[in-house]
Amino acid sequence: MAFAEYRRWPAARRAEFLRLIASLVEANSTTLVERANLETALPAARLQGEIGRTCGQLRLFATLIEEGWWLDARIDHANADRKPVPKPDVRSMLQPLGPVAVFSSSNFPFAFSVAGGDTASALAAGCPVIVKPHQGHLGTSDAVGSLIQQAARETGAPEGVFSMLFGPGRDVGMALVKHPLIKAVGFTGSRAGGRALMDASAARPEPIPVYAEMGSINPVFILPGALQQNAEALATGLHGSVTLGVGQFCTNPGLVFIEPKPPADAFMKKLESLMAATAPGTMLTPSICSEYHAGIEKFSETGGVRRVTKPSDAKKNGEARATLFATDAETFLVKHELMDEIFGPSTLVVRCDSRSQMLAAAQLLEGQLTATIHGTAQDFAANVDLLAILETKVGRLVCNGYPTGVEVCHAMNHGGPYPATADGRSTSVGTRAIVRFARPVCYQNFPDNALPDELKESNPLGLWRLVDGQLGKH
Ligand code: NAP
Repeated sequence: MAFAEYRRWPAARRAEFLRLIASLVEANSTTLVERANLETALPAARLQGEIGRTCGQLRLFATLIEEGWWLDARIDHANADRKPVPKPDVRSMLQPLGPVAVFSSSNFPFAFSVAGGDTASALAAGCPVIVKPHQGHLGTSDAVGSLIQQAARETGAPEGVFSMLFGPGRDVGMALVKHPLIKAVGFTGSRAGGRALMDASAARPEPIPVYAEMGSINPVFILPGALQQNAEALATGLHGSVTLGVGQFCTNPGLVFIEPKPPADAFMKKLESLMAATAPGTMLTPSICSEYHAGIEKFSETGGVRRVTKPSDAKKNGEARATLFATDAETFLVKHELMDEIFGPSTLVVRCDSRSQMLAAAQLLEGQLTATIHGTAQDFAANVDLLAILETKVGRLVCNGYPTGVEVCHAMNHGGPYPATADGRSTSVGTRAIVRFARPVCYQNFPDNALPDELKESNPLGLWRLVDGQLGKH
């Protein structure tokens, strides 16, 4: 019922709803940050920043739907004189899918949770949303959910445009995904969880799209020229990225490839000293903490892998200590378990004897959210083949930087081939995220007054449209 009414709302009204959510979240940010800090142990400054990002996202989608170009409106006029058969009048645009189930993340209590990117993009597209909140921050989720419901009431949205279902994922969450009225799923979390939802969706009488963002080890390739010029600065930058937020980011760089030239020793020495000097940090949930330490144990016991930093007893306090591992390319190329994500502040440095070993390692990689290349102009010229391999493996390529920090903008792609995500053709960050919750509908030979306003001949909404192959506001 909510969908039937909400999908008909003009974009301006949906935009008003999104902007009101943002204003209410901002107005309550002090209480929200206090609560989220108690539940997640994330610092207040980080949480305040995340609120800014969340509200910015909501407002970005509001502007996007007012502009309307995302609808991909296309018109091909009829030609009755075409031979051998007349050409029909064909028009198409994107339409919302229907109610969307959103599984919020553990590591972004605001930006990838109740009022986060999945919710914002689904509501913007015209889809009602049902959130399965994360057990790691239920109080925060409840408070944000109440604000969305307040915004829904104040804008006159239909009952049911937004709701939340509390309870265990395997029970309540699974029932939600199997419900016949749910038409798409957004998820951020583990590969096991995402895969369970993908399989459940595929087994439905009517399978539906699952957009699961499941993790990544975000390889970093340090090419010889860059290592020669900046070994210590690269170690410092990498350390900052690995340990940011106690390493609990999907874009955390968990794998680094270097060639064993003398500067590699300086790089390792600096990285080891920085990692060893990093104070342990509290992790988001007890289970994330125990999975981190299980991953560290597993890598420590893998033959050919050296644990460079010392073991610690941080686990007993629910904390993680930064951990550095080292291995060689021969080991990496045969031990595929070294591509498993250790969610937290750890990274594995793989020394390659040659460029061809680095290429072989790149070829072996599973789908990733990001890959980073550090190189000089000469390095890039000499490694065109490395870039060509990585283009087929990842959703975002970073040059001479670090993968943590994902800009929310029109051009961003936060996705990647499986197993980084369930569908590498989509992004969960940036305005392109909205198309996950829409599908094209085509109208053939319709009278003008029966067409949606977006496709009417006079273009009453002033949209950018592709008319007879020409893009313009006609
Ligand atoms: P998770 O265990 O996958 O849980 C995420 C959400 O999915 C929770 O709401 C959970 O519900 C639900 N869920 C999990 N398994 C399910 C299943 N079989 N059926 C239905 N629902 C299910 O992820 P997490 O708690 O955030 O963290 C665990 C691990 O996930 C981390 O250690 C890390 O490896 C990975 N992770 C990766 C990223 C990333 O972006 N790369 C982000 C966060 C976490 P319940 O909790 O109620 O069961």
